[in-house]
Amino acid sequence: MTFDSPARKPVPGPGKTFRVKSFGCQMNVYDGERMAEMLEAGGYAAAAEGADADLVVLNTCHIREKAAEKVYSDIGRLKREDGSRPTIAVAGCVAQAEGAEIARRAPSVDVVVGPQAYHRLPDLIARAQRGEKAIDLDMPLDSKFGALPKRAGGQRPTAFLTVQEGCDKFCTYCVVPYTRGAETSRPFADLIAEARALVAGGVREITLLGQNVNAWDGEDERGRAIGLDGLIRELAKEDGLERIRYTTSHPNDMTDGLIAAHGEVDKLMPFLHLPVQAGSDRILAAMNRSHSVESYLRVIERVRAARPDIAISGDFIVGFPGESEADFEATLAIVRSTQYAMAYSFKYSRRPGTPAATMDGQVEEGVMNDRLQRLQALLNEQQQAFNERTVGRATRLLLERRGKHDGQLIGKSPWLQSVHVTAPGLAIGDMVEVRITSAGPNSLGAEPLMEEVA
Ligand code: SAM
Ligand code: SF4
Repeated sequence: MTFDSPARKPVPGPGKTFRVKSFGCQMNVYDGERMAEMLEAGGYAAAAEGADADLVVLNTCHIREKAAEKVYSDIGRLKREDGSRPTIAVAGCVAQAEGAEIARRAPSVDVVVGPQAYHRLPDLIARAQRGEKAIDLDMPLDSKFGALPKRAGGQRPTAFLTVQEGCDKFCTYCVVPYTRGAETSRPFADLIAEARALVAGGVREITLLGQNVNAWDGEDERGRAIGLDGLIRELAKEDGLERIRYTTSHPNDMTDGLIAAHGEVDKLMPFLHLPVQAGSDRILAAMNRSHSVESYLRVIERVRAARPDIAISGDFIVGFPGESEADFEATLAIVRSTQYAMAYSFKYSRRPGTPAATMDGQVEEGVMNDRLQRLQALLNEQQQAFNERTVGRATRLLLERRGKHDGQLIGKSPWLQSVHVTAPGLAIGDMVEVRITSAGPNSLGAEPLMEEVA
């Protein structure tokens, strides 16, 4: 996925302009927005769509080889017709993993900055403009968050809020523990303050983010130890905040409290992204997932008991080293028993430095392609079936953006489906009561039941 410093209002004027292009996960989108806010605070203005920018930040993803390689073709494309180029900064996980190698392979890169050091971007740009190659891959103990400008609120009705970073789980295929560092939770008070600033700026839905968001822990204002469910319950008290979501969760960190919150907190949306990766215990053990098929299914069962209409989403990897046809069929079996509302599935990508990269039994590309196709066919069928089950239902949408047709707006249902609705007088940011009238694989249609509901 690619996100282009989204929906920032370009400010005309004589000053320098920038563009932040984020690849990969939602945490990168959040980081990209924070970088954009910091550049604006430093006098830069967002470049208008299609216009040339003086500074381009490529906020990269290292999770799979293809994503990581993409950065080099993007750097090449930044060269202008007259041979000049903007100041180029490479941020994110490729920057962390490849460091100075990036500037060697692509000499036009001026700044390389890791995901824990991007609060220093303005200094690094200044150094680059003095002719230095400015590289900062520090993972300082002091969080970058304190050094970033305070959030002013949204230009959109929804916002991401990173509450937790890094990962201590060390799944054998994954680069995150190396590129994002150890698991750390941001302090409760900082998160409440950031959420309030977002709500004051018009945000009505907040998605709490973390590589293992449900591993978040902290102390509330009275010094009591709380987990993610406690944070969600506190945020739910904020007037003006209508919806709360969180992603991504690890099955082992689905606490009793968090499961109960799904049945008890109205503002917590009925959606859970809970990656399982594979349906064979042998492969899960080789992946170092530290959960079993049985324990995963038990979590799903308990979440569904707490919130019967919850939509379940997941991540899958096919072709992990040593995966046999029988192992893969076990993945199809767990998909059949879980019934996903949506899911992401990937071919295993060999990442240098991870334990799985040197394991025996690397699976051939052709076999991976075949398995991915079969898995995706099943997941698509389930997504379509889930969408069809919502047809006829009355529900609420939060309108997020304009559709292609006149007067058409696109909002999200509680189950994170994109829903198109056309009616006069509706505006982005409205919550509307609708009835779902049609379902396609990726989006739904609806008609309004009444005007804006509070
Ligand atoms: N922390 C989350 C978790 O454990 O589920 C998600 C982290 S990762 C950014 C998102 C997804 O990328 C993972 O759930 C996994 O399916 C996929 N992924 C990670 N490393 C991969 C690799 N080497 N090859 C293919 N897919 C990978
Ligand atoms: Fe990667 Fe596993 Fe950590 Fe998720 S839990 S970020 S897949 S190491």
